Amino acid sequence: MAVVAIVGRPNVGKSTLFNRLVEQRKAITHDESGTTRDRHYGHATWNGKHFIVVDTGGYVPNGRHVFEQAIRQQAAISMQEAQVILFIVDAQVGITSLDQDMANVLRMVRKPILLVANKADNATIDLMVHEFYKLGMGNPYAISSASGMGTGDLLDKVVEYCATDAPAAPMSVPKIAIIGRPNVGKSSLLNVLVGQPRSIVAPTAGTTRDTIDTPYTLYNKHCILTDTAGLRKKHSIREHIEFYSVMRSLRALQAADVCLVIIDAEKGLERQDMNLIALAHRYKKGIVILVNKWDLITKHTPNEADRYRKEMYKKLAPLDYIPILFVSTVKKQRIYQAMEKALEVYAHRNQRVTTAQLNKVMLQAIERYAPPAVRGKYIKIKYVTQLPMRTPVFAFFCNHPQYIRPAYKGYLEKQLRTHFDLHGVPIQLVFRQK
Ligand code: GDP
Ligand code: GDP
Repeated sequence: MAVVAIVGRPNVGKSTLFNRLVEQRKAITHDESGTTRDRHYGHATWNGKHFIVVDTGGYVPNGRHVFEQAIRQQAAISMQEAQVILFIVDAQVGITSLDQDMANVLRMVRKPILLVANKADNATIDLMVHEFYKLGMGNPYAISSASGMGTGDLLDKVVEYCATDAPAAPMSVPKIAIIGRPNVGKSSLLNVLVGQPRSIVAPTAGTTRDTIDTPYTLYNKHCILTDTAGLRKKHSIREHIEFYSVMRSLRALQAADVCLVIIDAEKGLERQDMNLIALAHRYKKGIVILVNKWDLITKHTPNEADRYRKEMYKKLAPLDYIPILFVSTVKKQRIYQAMEKALEVYAHRNQRVTTAQLNKVMLQAIERYAPPAVRGKYIKIKYVTQLPMRTPVFAFFCNHPQYIRPAYKGYLEKQLRTHFDLHGVPIQLVFRQK
């Protein structure tokens, strides 16, 4: 998956562009609106190609005296993580010395850089953008992030650098990623599982270390644990730590079959946790949430876990298929149970339900509650089959696929989940003309 980094001095419209490009996921997470910087990375699609957009501005301090540092950090992030860089300038302001500084640093980055003159809201401004040619970064793309003008041409270019992802070859050994924000207990979990503290080689500041794969066996079942722990100790800037930790979680997530998303029990589900879960869902990964540090929750009424779980599902709605386990790596509580769960989710994600089994239960469910007629048209679902894909996709063949309403789709998904074990497994429902 290609990563596209948005860089530029403050106020040129980076986050406005970011918000325009990334997929809306209102249905999945509850955005606290009002803040423009509540997300730093997201998934975008253009002409059937997918990529991840990173708003580097969200990671660097915003204050006059730290501009220079900010610029260097944005460039460092782009250098390491991005395949394509969008260098944003303000068409209404013209070239500033900060733009110059940014250009000077970016010149050292050996990656495709697209110069973007934002706020070119009308034809008059559009004419001025050629001034930016002087930055020595090629001809600018004139766009208006506010209205969307010009973004199509820009995206056409961007996706030229984004290869269509070839489906990964089926793996015989499950890959399980341990992901989560800094300090939730990822390394602790790995150390409990693998038995000895791994040597953490902290790289020099500003360099990333790739995710680490460790083979692991539980009751004769083999898997590979991918973890992203270790880097933080070297960094002092909070945004920086958060950024690298998130980027590596993202990378581990993409390579995994199942994600163990670790949450800090005392903190609960936070925005970045939700982002990770939403992305794991988006990429159809198996998901298990581990609420770690459960030993610190002292309110040990018998129902505390239930109450906590309910609260979490409320926030996660509609992703209520994800198992939530309460663990403590310090007390070694339910760690192996968690691993068993992850392996179970892996197995269920790879299962093939036979067409006979599917039709037996699903046609009955459809009979019990038929799809509501739309504009006098009766909708008949004739049969159901699981498509031969890497992750579960169920195809419903019917006379008017376009009239199936989301609520009915939700009903069918619930029925599938009731009858087949799909705990922790994102599934897809498609409707086809018979
Ligand atoms: P960032 O600091 O680079 O992320 O900039 P923001 O995205 O926060 O935008 C800075 C300001 O520019 C905000 O007031 C935006 O509303 C405004 N802005 C962003 N894009 C456009 C645009 O295309 N046209 C105009 N006129 N204003 C814009
Ligand atoms: P990472 O950044 O996600 O790898 O987190 P670490 O594994 O380094 O853990 C961060 C801190 O949380 C450390 O001080 C751990 O000792 C502590 N910690 C991890 N798991 C638990 C737990 O289950 N209970 C308690 N009380 N502390 C924990």
